[in-house]
Amino acid sequence: MRFYDIIAKKRDGHELSSSEINYFIKNYSSGNIPDYQASALLMAIYIQKMSTRETFDLTYAMMNSGDCLNMNAQTISNDKTSKTVDKHSTGGVGDTTTLVLCPLVAACGVPVAKMAGRGLGHTGGTIDKLESIPGFQTDLPPDLFLKQVRELGVAVCSQSANLAPADKLLYGLRDVTATVGDISLATASIMSKKLALGCDAIVLDVKYGNGAFFEALDDALELAKKMVEIGEYAKKRTIAVVTDMNQPLGNAIGNALEVKEAMETLQNNGPEDFTELILALGANMVLLGEKATSYEEAYKLVQSKLEDGSAFHKFKNLLQYQGVKEDIAQGSNKLPIATSIVDIQSANSGYLHTIQSDQVGMSAMILGAGREKKEDIIDLAAGIVLHKKRGDFVNCGDTLATMHTCNENRIQLAKARFLNALTFSDEPVPKNTLVKAIVTKEGVKVMP
Ligand code: URA
Ligand code: CA
Repeated sequence: MRFYDIIAKKRDGHELSSSEINYFIKNYSSGNIPDYQASALLMAIYIQKMSTRETFDLTYAMMNSGDCLNMNAQTISNDKTSKTVDKHSTGGVGDTTTLVLCPLVAACGVPVAKMAGRGLGHTGGTIDKLESIPGFQTDLPPDLFLKQVRELGVAVCSQSANLAPADKLLYGLRDVTATVGDISLATASIMSKKLALGCDAIVLDVKYGNGAFFEALDDALELAKKMVEIGEYAKKRTIAVVTDMNQPLGNAIGNALEVKEAMETLQNNGPEDFTELILALGANMVLLGEKATSYEEAYKLVQSKLEDGSAFHKFKNLLQYQGVKEDIAQGSNKLPIATSIVDIQSANSGYLHTIQSDQVGMSAMILGAGREKKEDIIDLAAGIVLHKKRGDFVNCGDTLATMHTCNENRIQLAKARFLNALTFSDEPVPKNTLVKAIVTKEGVKVMP
């Protein structure tokens, strides 16, 4: 097999065979195919597209480039009547859903074995957020991780296994060759990592909008459909929830600030949009976890666990199990607190029309909440709390947001970035629903 011929075949619009796709991933991973040839193939795929079969083969080849775990209920849970459900978000700003969903869904009886990552660029990562809780251990040895899932029903640790390493290599190349935006390449990237974990079922939060990976709703829907198709093809029940990322989720952006928001939400006292997303994702997880027979039943169960305190109780147990000594839940003053806390006032009046989420994420990053480079150290206390959201009326002088940082020199730059991310309108701005569509193997249900 010559890699040149594989590039030419895709360039001319033909379907690649399974062995050609395997050849690509195997030899690119081992360094036998140079970046310039791999880049040419990625661009040919971007232009000519891949069929579902090709996408499936690419996903499997990438999955098999590293370890494959067995996080299914048969292997890791004492409760054999349940299914394990993994949740994945395509990435957003101020998105703390994992922190709330893991204990919430566990409180509904669905075992949760969550391996999470760190943030990069304008998006945050669950592990960074958890590390802002003093004492929380994110590096659990595999035996302790599994013991905790069996005993408590939930554990969250950083991803230590070598999952789909081909994706790391390819993502780096896509990022610099303008091929990140291909639906098949994105599907294989995400689903290879999900399938390598080996949970019984998968719930995907596919975001669209100005803070999302794909800005257009239609592209996000395409990605959702493709991922559900591939998941079901791999015999995993898969549901994708397509959600709005045209403004940060909830009010808090930044690690400790988001932990505080997650705790409020777990006590059923969180921001409306964030709670809406939690209920939709949680209900789908409980449905696929087989603790309810319909979406409506699952939704009611999830809602009841939020209202009756059991989700919050599970969260407190999770903290205890993972090394937190203090009763953080009693007072969030145990979390890191910024040395500079500054309100940002509006120089405009009108309805808040646009919040460019990625720019708000960048502003939080400037304050210290995120990393520009992998090695950067983050300021766990840093971030932004929004006081106004899209559609709210703002008077000149109103506080738009509060900035938190331990480096006050950063405030001016972060403030300029933040204010630049906003536009105002004289006309009322309709508030739209967060959950736009639910994609299952049966089809797409678009929300009214
Ligand atoms: N997230 C990923 O992990 N990969 C993509 O390609 C897109 C989003
Ligand atoms: Ca938030």
